[in-house]
Amino acid sequence: MSFDSLGLSEFLLSSLEDLSYDIATPIQEKTIPLVLEGRDLLAAAQTGSGKTAAFVLPMLQRYANSLKNEQTEQSLILVPTRELADQVGAAIQDYGQAMPQPPKTLTIFGGISIDPQIEKAQGGSDIIVATPGRLLDLIERKAVSISQINMLVLDEADRLLALGFADELNAILKLLPAKRQNLLFSATFPEAVIQISDTLLDNPEMIQLEVASKPAENIAQRTIEVEQDKRTALLRHLLKTEEWSRVLVFVATKRRAANVTAKLTKQGIRASVLHGDLKQEQRTRALENFKNGKTQVLMATDLAARGIHIEQLPCVINYDLPRSPTDYVHRIGRTGRAGEPGTAISFVTVEEHRHFQLIEKRHDLTLDRERIEGFIPENWDPDAIPVPTAPVKGKRKSKKDKSREAAARKAHNKREAAQENAAELPESEVAETNETPTAPVTVALEPKPEPAEIQEEPTEKKVAATIESPPEEAPELDPSNPWAQSLKKLKGND
Ligand code: AMP
Repeated sequence: MSFDSLGLSEFLLSSLEDLSYDIATPIQEKTIPLVLEGRDLLAAAQTGSGKTAAFVLPMLQRYANSLKNEQTEQSLILVPTRELADQVGAAIQDYGQAMPQPPKTLTIFGGISIDPQIEKAQGGSDIIVATPGRLLDLIERKAVSISQINMLVLDEADRLLALGFADELNAILKLLPAKRQNLLFSATFPEAVIQISDTLLDNPEMIQLEVASKPAENIAQRTIEVEQDKRTALLRHLLKTEEWSRVLVFVATKRRAANVTAKLTKQGIRASVLHGDLKQEQRTRALENFKNGKTQVLMATDLAARGIHIEQLPCVINYDLPRSPTDYVHRIGRTGRAGEPGTAISFVTVEEHRHFQLIEKRHDLTLDRERIEGFIPENWDPDAIPVPTAPVKGKRKSKKDKSREAAARKAHNKREAAQENAAELPESEVAETNETPTAPVTVALEPKPEPAEIQEEPTEKKVAATIESPPEEAPELDPSNPWAQSLKKLKGND
């Protein structure tokens, strides 16, 4: 469907034309008219679906209408990460570029000095895009007030709550006026999201997209079997033989990101890292260099898996496999944006063979395993890898099970520490064979602490156990709870 019939003014249509948005995505088609009507909304949507425009366009339209009617319209968009805040802020600028009087937009997030944000806030704002913690800081310092907000958007609500922002959200909700429009966008629906939806939304319209939580069809998914210590060499080989302008490579830890990047750089490949230990300016620079072609390879931890949009990214590589099937979709969803073709390659080691089978099973996939001349694994015997003893779903673990798991975790942590230390040695001393296998399913029976690089934005508890009990699966609700009905409807055949 074209944008013409969705109730948007000429100036917004003109911005969309400049951006070459010819057709509204399904979430935009459904969301825009409902938001313009003033409805509350609960939308199941992932990044890549066009969800940002789905709420920003009607928000801008409502703002323009309010100017005409000499009313005030102030909106607040809460996002989980700095990167997403930046992107949403940029989207508001892009979509509002042809407006006769664009809204004043304030984008605020933590991790950088608060003073320039306080200064910018002095000028007032029509739209605030914020991470919850920094917003509260600014409110406390009386730099920002949210007492006149008419529209609230929770973007990536599942992520917001999984990152531990529940208290901040509740504090913010208390400061908002009771009468307002509320939109909640979430990729998954764990119980915490359902609970907040329940308090937040007033008779919401539910929107669900068929594509939610499935890899997009325009992404060609490949898997290559390889030995652990050959992965960097295989990566170099692929970079030489394939004609990718840029490649996003996911690794499990920031040290591995640094280690592999150093090796690629030594071979004359333009590569850089992106992880949560970098300062905000460094992250922005790494992303910009990647987007404008100064670097060909961006070696990222899961911090980059969500909320980051890179135009024309032809390929994503899972150097280390993601921990959960959900993360798999998020990671590979960085390519193939807005319907472009993309390729996602997963390196599968013998240790990860079973883990990848579980990811496939969860997404109802059966991918051919490729082997590349020169990198064909010797000693490929998945049966020799111990089978994880996952607990039966719903069954309580025995003391013995728990202590066995604790011992396994301890041993795993020790190996990881040894590996991290090894990675600190000069390049020449770090044989890749020192790399500890990515945690096989065996050690992941319970949520494992997130790697240091994403502790600043603690993530969902997402480990192999999520395959048995995925985080987006909410526990059974009491059928008398009105949400049980609506959620059932929302989840459809999930
Ligand atoms: P999002 O899901 O909001 O992160 O958007 C994903 C990407 O799709 C962004 O780069 C948008 O600029 C782009 N996009 C959103 N809507 C459209 C559309 N209707 N046509 C073309 N590109 C779009």
